[in-house]
Amino acid sequence: MPRYADRGRALGSTLWLSAVVLSGCPLNPPPEVAGHSRPAHADSEQERMIEEQIVARGVRTPRVLDALRRVPRAAFVPPALAAEAHRDSPLPIGHGQTISQPFIVAYMTDQLDLSGNEKVLEIGTGSGYQAAILGELARRVYTIEIVEPLARQSRELLERQGFENIEVRTGDGYRGWPEQAPFDVIVLTAAPPEIPQPLIDQLAIGGRLLAPVGRWHQELVLIRRDEDGIHRERLIGVRFVPMVGEARNRETSP
Ligand code: SAH
Repeated sequence: MPRYADRGRALGSTLWLSAVVLSGCPLNPPPEVAGHSRPAHADSEQERMIEEQIVARGVRTPRVLDALRRVPRAAFVPPALAAEAHRDSPLPIGHGQTISQPFIVAYMTDQLDLSGNEKVLEIGTGSGYQAAILGELARRVYTIEIVEPLARQSRELLERQGFENIEVRTGDGYRGWPEQAPFDVIVLTAAPPEIPQPLIDQLAIGGRLLAPVGRWHQELVLIRRDEDGIHRERLIGVRFVPMVGEARNRETSP
């Protein structure tokens, strides 16, 4: 029996219905949607991943956790590894590359402190997962991937997932994306031996750049740029794939 049947009978169903219309309260409110029309909830495995790997290790910013809930991680791993999608580790995505460990994506995103208005540059699109999380939290994301088939796959996937604010370019990220500079935030998800100078130059005043830096021993480095110049902070030890292309050529040339 419908919930309002008794009340409807008592008030007279016509009167009750018009009251509903006047108060603007729909009879069947739509489920809560946010961001890019994805439901703001995760399936139970993804929810467990967020609780056990991310919240438990100290990432608690509600906006970051909501973004992690909205983006289905399983869509970003190869179908053959779907059962492993929520594992506490990076996973292979082909072409010798990996999708980052969930905690690292959450930790890096948290450090960026996104308010929703930023123009972001990511170097190393890979699976597109980090780009998707950034797309949930920033105004616009530009992301560069050097392996052409990965760039193509991620571009198609992000489009299918409804991200209209993410642009994927194939190429070497060493020189950034000068046509769109300056950026409020720049994130590298492949490790150069040193942060490429063109990327620092494309950082807006007030902007921040986050990058894994080093060869065998890597550290996550956070750079802030203000009127006085560049401020560099070392965060945690990490292990990312190396940044190839010009970053590597420069290292080997005299
Ligand atoms: N952000 C990714 C992590 C991908 S791993 C994710 O969420 O899945 C790092 C990626 O950086 C790899 O796909 C690799 O091909 C790419 N990469 C390495 N050197 C690069 C360069 N010079 N320019 C652009 N992409 C690069």
